[in-house]
Amino acid sequence: MILDHSYANELNELVTHLTPQSLKNARVVAINQSLRSQLNLPWETQDAWLEALFSVNSPLTQHSVAQKYGGHQFGHWNPDLGDGRGLLLSEVVTPEGKRFDLHLKGSGPTPYSRFADGRAVLRSTIREYLASEALFHLGIPSSRALCLLTSDEMVYREKSEKAAMLIRVSQSHLRFGHFEYYFHSQQLEKLQSLFDYSFKYHFSEYADQANPHALMLSKIVHDTATMIAKWQAYGFNHGVMNTDNMSIHGITFDFGPYAFLDDFDPRFICNHSDPQGRYSFDNQPGIGLWNLNALAMAFTPYLSRQEITNILQEYEQQLLKEYAKIMRAKCGLIEFGAHNSTIINEWLDMLASEKKDYSQYFRLLCDFDPTLKDTSLRDSFIDRPRFERWAEGLSQSIAEQDWTNEQRSASMKKHNPNYILRNYLAQQVIDRAEEGDFSLFDAYLTALSCPFNEHPEYAKFAAPPPDWGKKIEISCSS
Ligand code: AMP
Ligand code: MG
Repeated sequence: MILDHSYANELNELVTHLTPQSLKNARVVAINQSLRSQLNLPWETQDAWLEALFSVNSPLTQHSVAQKYGGHQFGHWNPDLGDGRGLLLSEVVTPEGKRFDLHLKGSGPTPYSRFADGRAVLRSTIREYLASEALFHLGIPSSRALCLLTSDEMVYREKSEKAAMLIRVSQSHLRFGHFEYYFHSQQLEKLQSLFDYSFKYHFSEYADQANPHALMLSKIVHDTATMIAKWQAYGFNHGVMNTDNMSIHGITFDFGPYAFLDDFDPRFICNHSDPQGRYSFDNQPGIGLWNLNALAMAFTPYLSRQEITNILQEYEQQLLKEYAKIMRAKCGLIEFGAHNSTIINEWLDMLASEKKDYSQYFRLLCDFDPTLKDTSLRDSFIDRPRFERWAEGLSQSIAEQDWTNEQRSASMKKHNPNYILRNYLAQQVIDRAEEGDFSLFDAYLTALSCPFNEHPEYAKFAAPPPDWGKKIEISCSS
């Protein structure tokens, strides 16, 4: 194992050195062993993690730091952000030479905590663990979850809740808000250090090019567009796309009151603190661009307005290209073209107007052969004539493809998950975990780790929610 502390050492003026503060009767309840072994980390047991986290002079925490950043929250600039309840413990360099941050959430107060307690609750750490792993296994770029700790310490949110900690892994924890902070506070030397650091460790392929800042911004634009295209295709609503929650690596990051869609409503809002729907499902592509504009301000000392405008124009193209590619795969359509776009759009319109469960109906579509008179899917649509017209168009399209039905169906099942993370199931996992029982957590995680498979044992995780399960309010406090 090679631990490194490049951020703490080379950007010493941008951090506060601190070690994690343990919780009453802290105990490790989940270790992501496959991720642990990919990272070549030695801590295999629960005791080993406790020792690594909380013993004096542990190599994992000896150089841990809180990072400073700012962010645009709901469109308003807030300079007073930073790791208020998290620490960058260490970086790990894998045997292949890749670098990852190990970050502990819920580690106690820091200078950036403002008046809050520096802690995270079990509910939100479980939600982050499940979501980051679910997204990763769907092929959606995300931070990963490595290790979960619970405790007997209570903290107050809307009610008294168990405090917990989560170690997460990501290429880095550099957010849009890091760059924005040093730009808006006009600390341009520090901004320069942050860029130098980024070119050394994260965008090194551009360091010696003629215009490295243009290439870096273009890469962030491209990766952000790709990530958001995948959110839209798989029905994921992040819920708090503030620029402090946006990673420069284009990965899903900082999970709050997120949700996967149940009944398809394009205007769905998962965050109950967002009544205007700034971060609603169908606003995500536009907000992604808004956020990239905010980030681009930090590039203005290096790039002309015209250069920035040109780079930002790449966003929409990339997002639409990626989205179309995935949607064609989900619908089993090989060719790109106006006819197939119409089929996809009409299918989405039907799902929305008949309030069908987004993931379940895409999965049902995998076994639908429009040339047969099979009625199970047809019968579930109230506007049957509309469905028949659509099925006729689909059948023409499929007839022109050089694919057997079996091939088409098998391919579609690799793009339409059988298991999706549902809020009502996550809540059942949380309720059990609060009682000290993590067996449902383990089982759900196993299902979500192979989302395209079918196991009779996990059938309950594939069912769409009952009516009561669709209206679970997700609190923003975490
Ligand atoms: P979040 O809503 O988790 O993205 O956090 C927004 C900002 O509030 C970040 O600067 C966090 O570090 C800070 N924050 C959130 N919750 C807490 C807490 N319980 N204690 C201290 N800081 C917090
Ligand atoms: Mg955040």
